[in-house]
Amino acid sequence: MAKKKMNLTSRVLIGLLLGLITGIIVFKLPSGVIKDTILINGIFQLIGQVFLRGIMMLVVPLVFVSLVNGAASMGDVKKLGRVGVKTVGFYLTTTAMAIIIALVLGFFLKPGIGLDMSAIERVELTINPRIPLIQLLYEMVPRNPVASMAEGNMLQIIVFAILTGVGLSLLGKKVEFLIKLFTNLNDLIMKLVEIVMLFAPIGVFGLIARTFATVGYSGLLPLIKYILTVYVGLLIHMFFVYGGLLKGFTDLSPKTFYKKFLPAMSVAFSTASSNATVPVSLEIAEKELGISKNIASFTIPLGATINMDGTAIMQGIAVFFIAQVYGYELTMGMILTVILTATLASIGTAGVPGAGTIMLSMVLQSIGLPIEGIGLIIGIDRLVDMGRTVTNITGDAVCTAVVAKQEGELNMEVANS
Ligand code: ASP
Repeated sequence: MAKKKMNLTSRVLIGLLLGLITGIIVFKLPSGVIKDTILINGIFQLIGQVFLRGIMMLVVPLVFVSLVNGAASMGDVKKLGRVGVKTVGFYLTTTAMAIIIALVLGFFLKPGIGLDMSAIERVELTINPRIPLIQLLYEMVPRNPVASMAEGNMLQIIVFAILTGVGLSLLGKKVEFLIKLFTNLNDLIMKLVEIVMLFAPIGVFGLIARTFATVGYSGLLPLIKYILTVYVGLLIHMFFVYGGLLKGFTDLSPKTFYKKFLPAMSVAFSTASSNATVPVSLEIAEKELGISKNIASFTIPLGATINMDGTAIMQGIAVFFIAQVYGYELTMGMILTVILTATLASIGTAGVPGAGTIMLSMVLQSIGLPIEGIGLIIGIDRLVDMGRTVTNITGDAVCTAVVAKQEGELNMEVANS
């Protein structure tokens, strides 16, 4: 069994590395039928999309069924409330810490200073900047849950699923059959996840190869300071904040944790989508990290939607970057506003590629910075998105482990095996 586990991790990693190398080689090829039609839009696209669509196919049913189960299996509404408050508390705290790290880095590393603006390709923006906060809040309540599922509106699905779970739990014995049905559905979907994951190494190869063959590294150099600052922020956050949480609140060794979580991180990196990573994260949390189904099935899908520490780090650094490029000074009041709006923006960010950059417009607007600044970084955003998505989903798993430990639902034997 141990051998098989290693296999998936290393196979996915090999797919990722080969994808990277192949992508860069293909990027260097001259444009033409072989490069564009056969490779980038042919083979890479085909295998990447088959895998991506395979996991996306499972996301809505999985998030719904998983959260209904999670909420229903808490036993009583009081426990659900306690776990819910703790989870959201951890999610918000880590996000605020992420932004603070980002702001400190943005201030000291000055990613936007000394930039040759003429070297940057400005992209015309088609972003709709106005997403009023109040609207974000009331739109969490679905008008029609079937439509929410059809559209894949995660926040709405979460609200409906938690209410359904609470309802089932209140009805208890009377709906035994339904509760059992949801448990069985959960098993079924997890089986489907295993099947789709068999294809992960090839799929990851296709996605990464296509990204690098398209984006390459041109356009990257003028923005290298920005990209590196974001990655430094992501690493600091994962090492100190997550490492500290794991050490301080659970008895899990961060090294074991990260080793086991690597396949999920690889999927996050290659898909740049927290939503797409939920199935793998859940599987690892339950089977490898010893986190009880009750907790993981509730906190992981919730985290994939509302907890985005990596996105917050990008937003904090992008604020400084854009301010520095345009020559604005940030006041203390502005910085505090950024901490608040970026935390809220990251809750409202969908777990799909590029969503964080769209929400950045809300943060920029809150302190009056030009949203056109996004046009400077949007061209290379995918490369940053891949990294921040890894942090986003790792944060969900870390907070999940912490909450599970506090609830006595972390099986250390499994976790350390
Ligand atoms: N791609 C990120 C995610 O799915 C969201 C973002 O764009 O920051 O977690």
